Amino acid sequence: MTMTHAMEVEKALDLKKQIQGLEAPDTDFLFQDTSPPARWEWVYSTQTGEPIRVKRHRLIPTLEKRLPDGSKAFTADKTAAPTYRLGEVKCFLAKGSDDREVVDALNISPGYYCPAEHLANDMAATVHAEKRHPTRWRMFKEHKEKQERERDREERRAELAAIRALAEGPRRGRAAE
Ligand SMILES: [Zn+2]
Repeated sequence: MTMTHAMEVEKALDLKKQIQGLEAPDTDFLFQDTSPPARWEWVYSTQTGEPIRVKRHRLIPTLEKRLPDGSKAFTADKTAAPTYRLGEVKCFLAKGSDDREVVDALNISPGYYCPAEHLANDMAATVHAEKRHPTRWRMFKEHKEKQERERDREERRAELAAIRALAEGPRRGRAAE
């Protein structure tokens, strides 16, 4: 397998980490750039495999990013990252999203359809909505919560009715004797 420039830099960084403590390495020496200038490099999220294009001068800080557990957040070696899958979750404002009918009924986004249709999962969709559409998301959420409270209340009412019927049942039975 041919090494990309990004992979070479990552290898050098791994080496640097290994010898850290022994001596302070001269990173300029480690990163002698012999490849032809290309301004962009590809790295891959070690969590999702998502390919991310970074400017060459951002390559080192990107590859040095660590996850909370201390492992690498990005790698230049695609084979070391999980296979990236395009998500299938749509933004609540996207055309054809499960929530769009409610959004239209509430009239909180007339004529605007969000193009985000490939979010990784429900959590990513929530983060996206909170960040990109904070006001509309709040209105949508409040409506949903209100609906849920009403549903809960109805369920409780039905439960109470069932309990009452149960309690009254034997009494009615005795009365009939
Ligand atoms: Zn959106």
